[in-house]
Amino acid sequence: MGEDGEINKRYFGDCCIVIRMDYAEDQIFILVDSNTRVLCLPHLLDLLHNRYELHVLEENVLVIPAGEEHKSIETILPLWHALVERKATRKALLFNLGGGVVTDMGGFVASTYRRGIDYINVPTTLLSMVDAGHGGKTGFDFDGLKNEIGTFYAPKNVWIVPEFLKTLPREEMLSGYAELIKHALLSGDEALNEAFMNLPLFLKLNEATDEQMAVVERMINESIAVKQHVVELDPTEKGLRKCLNLGHTVGHAVEELSFEECKPLRHGYAVIVGLVAEAWLSSQVKGLDKKVVDNLASCMSIYYGLLRIRESHFDGMIELMRNDKKNASANEINFTLLSAVGEYEVNQTVSKEMIFEALKFINDVI
Ligand code: NAD
Repeated sequence: MGEDGEINKRYFGDCCIVIRMDYAEDQIFILVDSNTRVLCLPHLLDLLHNRYELHVLEENVLVIPAGEEHKSIETILPLWHALVERKATRKALLFNLGGGVVTDMGGFVASTYRRGIDYINVPTTLLSMVDAGHGGKTGFDFDGLKNEIGTFYAPKNVWIVPEFLKTLPREEMLSGYAELIKHALLSGDEALNEAFMNLPLFLKLNEATDEQMAVVERMINESIAVKQHVVELDPTEKGLRKCLNLGHTVGHAVEELSFEECKPLRHGYAVIVGLVAEAWLSSQVKGLDKKVVDNLASCMSIYYGLLRIRESHFDGMIELMRNDKKNASANEINFTLLSAVGEYEVNQTVSKEMIFEALKFINDVI
């Protein structure tokens, strides 16, 4: 078993047996946000109660406001208070039911309360199912910087329930899908072709048949496996795990610029721009097939819209990339680049002029 524990809901039953043996009922807590409390909590409570005879006390459901703007120490403090007030012990278990904001903050609370209690992530957005919910990175935003404070602390388990995605708004689905495409690029041609082909299916899950939901579940599990494999080999991001940064060197800069401009982009929208730019760099420096770049670019323009970056911002973007905390030194900008789909190299540097060309390519996508 890896750092994350088992990741597939096939292990749901085993995990609940462990829960019933290891945790007293009044020591089970659920963290939700204001949306997942309404849309997802009843389903999780039903599963726990009907299938496993577990009853979670109403006062042990902890609610935080939805949204990245609440991913802060001000939201963490009342959660620590609530655990103290409800007499949570070191043998407590916290379920994090929500998107990446809930799983990141809930993971942080679990990692710090009494020096660490167990937690299980039940991700409810595509982004958290394929990415944020796994790998043990926890934290919150601080002093205007994303994920500035945090810990590495792996969940005991991650439960995947694809049905939760049926209520997810289109923009949130697309945001998560960018990470699924990233994993496909790291995986191989078959996964990438399937990702391009099945994007429309993910955007209409309400109408999906059982067979189609089975395809969705398989694709999610395959996507998770890409991250899982890398995290198992390099849990604290000393080397190989940096490949998961594909698309994120440019992507983070695009995201931060969008915040500075007061036109915030969802994470995955910034990532898809980053993937196109870094695939273009890969084609120039590592010989990645240009067809891959063109397919990514048309996927971006059809589904995500045209996300242009003004040339007057190019220098500022370079500065943002230099400040990325994943760089080894302040003067270096590190990329993960592909020589082919499924074949990558981390810690690659390219000239500033080449990065400018990549940003121009984004602006020329029709
Ligand atoms: P999010 O948690 O803010 O969720 C997006 C929105 O969807 C929220 O309004 C939420 O309430 C709503 N929502 C959640 N589930 C829903 C459902 N089933 N139906 C309808 N609405 C639902 O954002 P996210 O995109 O899931 O995650 C982004 C966060 O993840 C960022 O803070 C990012 O830093 C973090 N992240 C962490 C890692 C990691 O390795 N720890 C990796 C990637 C991203």
